[in-house]
Amino acid sequence: MSTAYVVGGGLAGLSAAVTLAGKGRKVVLIEGAPQAGGRCRSYFDATLGLTIDNGNHLVLSGNTAVQDYLAEIGAANALAGPDKAVFDFMDVSSGRRWTLRPNDSALAWWVLAPGRRVPDTQPVDYLALLRLLSVALGKDDKPICDVIATDGHLWHRLLHPFLLAVLNTEPKTASAKLAGEVIRRSLARGGLAYRPRIAHPTLAAAFVDPALAYLKAKGAEVRIGQRVRGLSLDGALTGFDLAGTPVVLAPGDSVVLAVPPWVAAELLPGLAAPDEFRSIVNAHFKIAPPPGTALMTGVINGAAEWIFAFEDRVSITVSGADAIVDDDREALAARFWADVAKVLRLPAEPMPPWQVVKERRATFAATPTQAARRANAATRWPNLVLAGDWTATGLPSTIEGAIQSGRTAAALILSH
Ligand SMILES: Cc1cc2nc3c(=O)[nH]c(=O)nc-3n(C[C@H](O)[C@H](O)[C@H](O)COP(=O)(O)OP(=O)(O)OC[C@H]3O[C@@H](n4cnc5c(N)ncnc54)[C@H](O)[C@@H]3O)c2cc1C
Repeated sequence: MSTAYVVGGGLAGLSAAVTLAGKGRKVVLIEGAPQAGGRCRSYFDATLGLTIDNGNHLVLSGNTAVQDYLAEIGAANALAGPDKAVFDFMDVSSGRRWTLRPNDSALAWWVLAPGRRVPDTQPVDYLALLRLLSVALGKDDKPICDVIATDGHLWHRLLHPFLLAVLNTEPKTASAKLAGEVIRRSLARGGLAYRPRIAHPTLAAAFVDPALAYLKAKGAEVRIGQRVRGLSLDGALTGFDLAGTPVVLAPGDSVVLAVPPWVAAELLPGLAAPDEFRSIVNAHFKIAPPPGTALMTGVINGAAEWIFAFEDRVSITVSGADAIVDDDREALAARFWADVAKVLRLPAEPMPPWQVVKERRATFAATPTQAARRANAATRWPNLVLAGDWTATGLPSTIEGAIQSGRTAAALILSH
């Protein structure tokens, strides 16, 4: 039987491997790092004495690729979240708190109800979402600031934090097409499609460990800690260098290259791929949140942008964090904790044990220019297919995009 090699054990590679193994293909998954998961991983942090995630990862109930993947690996119940789309916010400069309560259906009547929408906004303001949606449905891309007003209460209290979180790029200059596509797949489908979902207790428990167990059960070979250093390319891909050992492909063998764009560009000279990135900073505090704390809270006018409550810790996320990524870690922790203490009504001192995790190349910059550099899954080598959140999925760098890209790559291999 021919072998499908999957290079890269992030979610794109895991998703490709799971799909191929599920269809009865012989799969070899190769991951260069000491553990699978890539940018979506968990590890034991000795400072905190806790298993933490490299970053808080939010997905939405309507992320269909995520749901299908979790169902296939037997982890359909590994995400936690409310039955309704409910989003708590606090403006830490004014102390004002509010809760967004979108209704379930696509007919978005919640914007007509002052108690459900963003305070001090009018229903007409929400037409901005339709304008972004129309860019997604059209051909051309442009920066968001060319499509909608980037000021006012709706912008500052909802659109900016929401778009910054999904695009990981300053929304004003980010791609309206990517923003519109996210809106098309979430807000436009009604509250049932955008209930927040978080991996509990960890990312690994939801997205990675069950996938590795599934692959093992299907007889796939998983090689961890072995880097692919080069590809032998002729009219077709004939083999690759695996940690110094040549692997020669047999007729019918194929490779899914599911590595980050900077590695793909090294292995495939001349490949057009995104080459600008944005960072994300997360901080974790070892403290049990007060009973009744919301799963996540949006912070307006603070240093922290989102606060996530787990049983054994409180974590915060800052997206598009390039302006602060080089700041002193203790100073960052203190600024974030000041926000957490206000939002969760906890004592400002002493600050609990903390950890700050900086991911410098968390995602590609979701600008129109960078989005135009995304590569298709198919390459000019028939037995070499690309996957990854940076390939042309139509979505920003997200778990949904990564998993979708793995499924697309697997479908191409299966169709050969
Ligand atoms: C801090 C942070 C927070 C995030 N928050 C969210 C969020 O809230 N919601 C959301 O949807 N998304 C979020 N994302 C984005 C999401 O994590 C990524 O889109 C997704 O994990 C990318 O998966 P991938 O498989 O495409 O790439 P990667 O995870 O980068 O996987 C690529 C894999 O290839 C391996 N590799 C590299 N080179 C080689 C080689 N030569 N040989 C073998 N293996 C190799 C790497 O070690 C890695 O495991 C976040 C990302 C970060 C970093």
